[in-house]
Amino acid sequence: MPTLDSNLSTNTAAVMPALVYTGLQAGVELATRPVPAISGVDDVLVRVAATGVCGTDRGILLGNFPAVSGVILGHEAVGEVAAVGPAVSSLRIGDRVVINPTYYCGTCRPCRRGSPAHCQAKEGREIGVDCDGTMAGYIALPERFAHPLPDGMSLRRASQVEPLACVLNNLEAAAPRPGDHILILGAGPIGTLCAFVLAAQGARVSLAERDPQRAELARSILPNRVSVSAGPTTALRPDVIIDTVGILLEEALERIEDGGTVVVMGEREGVGAMVALRSLVTRGLRVVGAGPYSPRDFELALDLADDLPLEALITHDLPLERYAEGFGLLGAGPLATGGYGAMKVLLVSNERGLS
Ligand SMILES: [Zn+2]
Ligand SMILES: [Zn+2]
Repeated sequence: MPTLDSNLSTNTAAVMPALVYTGLQAGVELATRPVPAISGVDDVLVRVAATGVCGTDRGILLGNFPAVSGVILGHEAVGEVAAVGPAVSSLRIGDRVVINPTYYCGTCRPCRRGSPAHCQAKEGREIGVDCDGTMAGYIALPERFAHPLPDGMSLRRASQVEPLACVLNNLEAAAPRPGDHILILGAGPIGTLCAFVLAAQGARVSLAERDPQRAELARSILPNRVSVSAGPTTALRPDVIIDTVGILLEEALERIEDGGTVVVMGEREGVGAMVALRSLVTRGLRVVGAGPYSPRDFELALDLADDLPLEALITHDLPLERYAEGFGLLGAGPLATGGYGAMKVLLVSNERGLS
């Protein structure tokens, strides 16, 4: 892998490996790209340690999630500050950080009204989707999107803060009451993380997953009190259902208790559902989507991660050049075997790894 010379700030000839979305059938290729320059006075350059492969990345490869061809993939990243712009005040070279990839401008109407999650200036700024992401040696970004890690938190654990922010945002939308039975559909990293957080809070939670390998992986990670089954049990009607698969709304509405809430969490391009609207009225059902997480969710996730052994979700870490194997374990790309062989895969960006 290319490495940088010590004179990073001049940055003239430095190059890095980068996993680039080609837009073609094969999906991705490992390319060599220039190390990004710090362009804003408050930008930092982060040496990426590792990036989690997410359902979004998988969706891009499978053609289920639109992305711009030529962008570097990846958004769930941790690393170390390698250079800082002249106006950076909160970070120093060597600080370990987790990246918040949900950029916001701070000046549009939603941002000014306190909803930066709904920022109107996101186009062209979604990293790993329509602008360059973190499956590379380095990324440059404004300092406010690089959060310093608390002392003692491992990079491995911190790599799960971004999906945890996503989960916290959706759990807030679900608004379970004490004693509610919560059913999570799908035992991927997000579904398993939902169950992990809810179980830690003492909630009554169960998980349904049809893929036997995924179900087994989830079982091995979660506390015993979380039941993991192939399908929802008919004995109990859940008060809250979180559909992390993103295509199970009709099934969820059939199974939910009257007065219950269904959170649609998985994102699938072009998927719809037939809903008998009368039943929403007569049964008092809520169907909600949480939208993207806010900077507040990200900070809460960072705090909560201090107490949760999130590294348990990581089943594989592979060097960046073994990306095809990593995607294959998640059922995407030419090495896919049809099922899931992993929970969370990290792609490690440099030879220093996660230490
Ligand atoms: Zn993600
Ligand atoms: Zn904005």
